[in-house]
Amino acid sequence: MDLQSLLSGVKEILVSNGNYEGLSNKEIYTPSIQVERRNIYFILHQKNSDGIVEKSLVVYENRLTAGDFEATESMEDVDSTLLVGALNEHNNDALAKRFQWMRPTSRRNYKYTFGLGDRLGNASNAHLRLLKGRGIMPVLAQQSIRELVLMHRTNTDVFQSASWAVFEEGFTYGWGADGDHVKTPYEVDYAVKIGCSMITLDCTEEINNDIVTLDDTELDKRFNQLDPDQIKYFNDTYLNQTFDLGDGRSVKFTKHDVEESVLTFYDAILFAAGIYKKFVVPYNLDFEISMDETPYQTTNPNHYFFANELHRRGITPTTMAPRFYGEFQKAIDYIGDTKRFEREYVIHEAIAEHFGYKLSIHSGSDKLSVYEIIGRISKEHGWHVKTAGTNWLEALRVIAHKDPKFMLELYKFAYENLDDVKAFYVFNAQTDGTAPKPDTMTEENVMDLLNNDDARQVLHTMYGSIMNLKHNYHYVYRDKLWNILLKNQALYDKYLNIHIAEHLDLLQGVVKTKQEAQEKHEPKTDISKESEKELEASMNL
Ligand code: ZN
Repeated sequence: MDLQSLLSGVKEILVSNGNYEGLSNKEIYTPSIQVERRNIYFILHQKNSDGIVEKSLVVYENRLTAGDFEATESMEDVDSTLLVGALNEHNNDALAKRFQWMRPTSRRNYKYTFGLGDRLGNASNAHLRLLKGRGIMPVLAQQSIRELVLMHRTNTDVFQSASWAVFEEGFTYGWGADGDHVKTPYEVDYAVKIGCSMITLDCTEEINNDIVTLDDTELDKRFNQLDPDQIKYFNDTYLNQTFDLGDGRSVKFTKHDVEESVLTFYDAILFAAGIYKKFVVPYNLDFEISMDETPYQTTNPNHYFFANELHRRGITPTTMAPRFYGEFQKAIDYIGDTKRFEREYVIHEAIAEHFGYKLSIHSGSDKLSVYEIIGRISKEHGWHVKTAGTNWLEALRVIAHKDPKFMLELYKFAYENLDDVKAFYVFNAQTDGTAPKPDTMTEENVMDLLNNDDARQVLHTMYGSIMNLKHNYHYVYRDKLWNILLKNQALYDKYLNIHIAEHLDLLQGVVKTKQEAQEKHEPKTDISKESEKELEASMNL
């Protein structure tokens, strides 16, 4: 690297008064520039011979302290050192000592928070650019253990790529890191140690789902096997009680509601209380409790019971994720009666408000039909919405656009090997013949795959199989896919931007219907060659 010319770039920054438009070195990524007295930090973007952007950290700092960084190259300049380093963990730590906002923070003071998983690890920059000025706090590192294992990634990788993106985009407004769907003290501990500001405690394994299937006689029998003082407490507290939640909203417990709530959830409540004491208090974490991955819907009495029992123990979570009425399948819109969803959501919201936390909506990608409702009803107190894997589908949009033939190949493979994922995912696309047959797809209509619900689910769930398929010790698809994606980062960013903007516009009430949201943003299939060029130029890539 030409350090002398990099040094003149640094000198230009020093005299620029914060106006970076005229900088002669176009490889300096301007949103990343941080100036602290006479010290300067930024990310350099250099295109390699394959057209892929390579990033390095540049530091110009007093020579007494610059040794904190791990340099690949450096030179002295009077009292300062100019150094170039990798975006690695060591340099991330050194930088975060200088810029506290590179570390995650609590969500508690933010009304709206939005979880953005990043399966591939290069979507966060686009997300941050979109969220600037929206008044929404991003929760960036959010990945289930299953997906990490699948891709040989670790929570540290996820955490690191998020923190670097935060620095690169100069996102000083606060972000969160979520130990998502942690199920055991071991997993919680790991999330805490890498620096997560939040945990989502998945109570699935402590929830007794078989209770829902019992008839009333059997249910009553099981309930009456509890200790007499337990039976007395639950009945005195809940049986035939109506809990007023204000504004005409209330929750009433029948005998069935009491017995079902206790037998299904009491174990989970005690488990959550234990985690709260052991981790949430000592590490000052944001505490989310999720029961969304259970096979049965969380009724309003179930939710009230859970919250009230926590309250009795002095516990207020930051957010709670019930399993709402209807289906929140991955990668497609909400399935179910939206009127009924709204009636029940109103009560869930009232319970959350009453106990002082927010609702959290999981599997939030693409649920455009219910976002207007959630945005409107939770307007006063705010919401937390989690989206995750669907940026993978936006990545495939790039593939379909740039190499339609390759996309056809990927789809054919995914379609023919769906059995790989039968055990892990619930969805309808499987073998009922509704997903488009690979031989009906052509280079002309390949983009339709990303707009068809069944095809989306096929591609969404087959992520691990596609990326990990090997032949004679080398990856069949992975490297080629990465190469196309990295070469076309600007296009990928654009797709990501449109995808998430549709969600946020509905949640924030900027538009009222799914159709409006989709019409407002450029049709995804129609990004022309010229606008791609403009994109790249505008993003300094
Ligand atoms: Zn979930």
